[in-house]
Amino acid sequence: MPANLPVPLRDRLGRPLESLRLSVTDRCNLRCLYCMPEEDYVWLPRQELLSFEELVRLVDIFTELGVTRLRLTGGEPLLRHNVDRLVAMLTQNPRIMDLAMTTNGVLFAEQAETLKRAGLGRVTISLDTLQRERFRLMTRRDEHDRVLSAFGAARRAGFKGTKLDAVVMRGENDGELADLIEFGHKNDVEVRFIEYMDVLGATKWSMAKVVSRDEMLQRLEERYGKIRPAAETSSAPASRFLLPDGTVFGIIASTTSPFCRTCDRSRITADGVWYRCLYATNGTDLRKLLRGTAATANASRGAAKSDSDIASVIAEAWREREDRGAEERASRNHREAFIGIEELRRDPHLEMHTRGG
Ligand code: SAM
Ligand code: SF4
Ligand code: SF4
Repeated sequence: MPANLPVPLRDRLGRPLESLRLSVTDRCNLRCLYCMPEEDYVWLPRQELLSFEELVRLVDIFTELGVTRLRLTGGEPLLRHNVDRLVAMLTQNPRIMDLAMTTNGVLFAEQAETLKRAGLGRVTISLDTLQRERFRLMTRRDEHDRVLSAFGAARRAGFKGTKLDAVVMRGENDGELADLIEFGHKNDVEVRFIEYMDVLGATKWSMAKVVSRDEMLQRLEERYGKIRPAAETSSAPASRFLLPDGTVFGIIASTTSPFCRTCDRSRITADGVWYRCLYATNGTDLRKLLRGTAATANASRGAAKSDSDIASVIAEAWREREDRGAEERASRNHREAFIGIEELRRDPHLEMHTRGG
């Protein structure tokens, strides 16, 4: 490691490098309307994905630079063969304080115990609706039962602090806010509603389909009575609230009330491109530094680099970071989908399911 690194490493807006999302595959077994609305997708070639050894090496470099929270995501992370082995390898890194996974839950029940045994700390399961037919329409797959079974499986395997994340879309599932809260209460999981974002793969996004945090709160107050703010935990993006009976839930208001000012998150795609913001259109090709061969089409061949060289590249890029993607989007008078389908087809790295949500 370079000896003169400032600790903690901060970007131009004073934000530390602390939270890393690792996309372990770009493939998915669902086709959510807000993430993968098209019929056909271009996948990253399998041989181009980083091996577990390469992923662990990158994580080690990032944790030396200050990262303490790691989230495995995708695509659907449980589609990556033997992902529990990767989890076990990552637990060897003592700097990781929080090792979590975001999954759509389809394959979770069958892997819950193995993942727990491997050392996975926490899990967030995405579920947008309690209605089977609506699930089929929203995900274009008939997997509702398997997703529902993920919550009990998480509890039985001994996971604590499980979260249920639901993207709220007007005209689709926005009538189910209270039902989802009740489901969370029964299953001992904290529900977080996510405002529909105009990110990357959301090619059919429109402001009209966004239900804002204020509207969600208003609707829930009509049902439950006065809602109060609850204590925040860490730098999690969700604002947390308390119902009169003490039930806690969260809202992630990235669209109408972005939180870029405190954002310590960055993301690595399954083939090793590092993005310092969800909305960034350019990333740093770390695979090229690891292997000497490029992950991005127009990058040239070069020599493989040492850990120390790679750390210097990452540190320098973080110090230069001034991204505020969601805030910039929110300041526009007219908003439409961020990136069109043609551009996404040319560069799958721009997809949410490639980059990792
Ligand atoms: N496949 C896994 C899953 O769905 O949980 C992990 C990856 S997915 C990209 C991570 C999260 O991103 C999911 O909770 C999903 O709901 C969220 N997401 C994807 N597209 C979104 C959008 N347009 N607006 C808001 N959230 C979105
Ligand atoms: Fe849905 Fe996650 Fe798959 Fe995107 S990556 S389509 S959010 S399950
Ligand atoms: Fe962070 Fe970019 Fe998301 Fe803002 S838009 S919260 S800077 S990842």
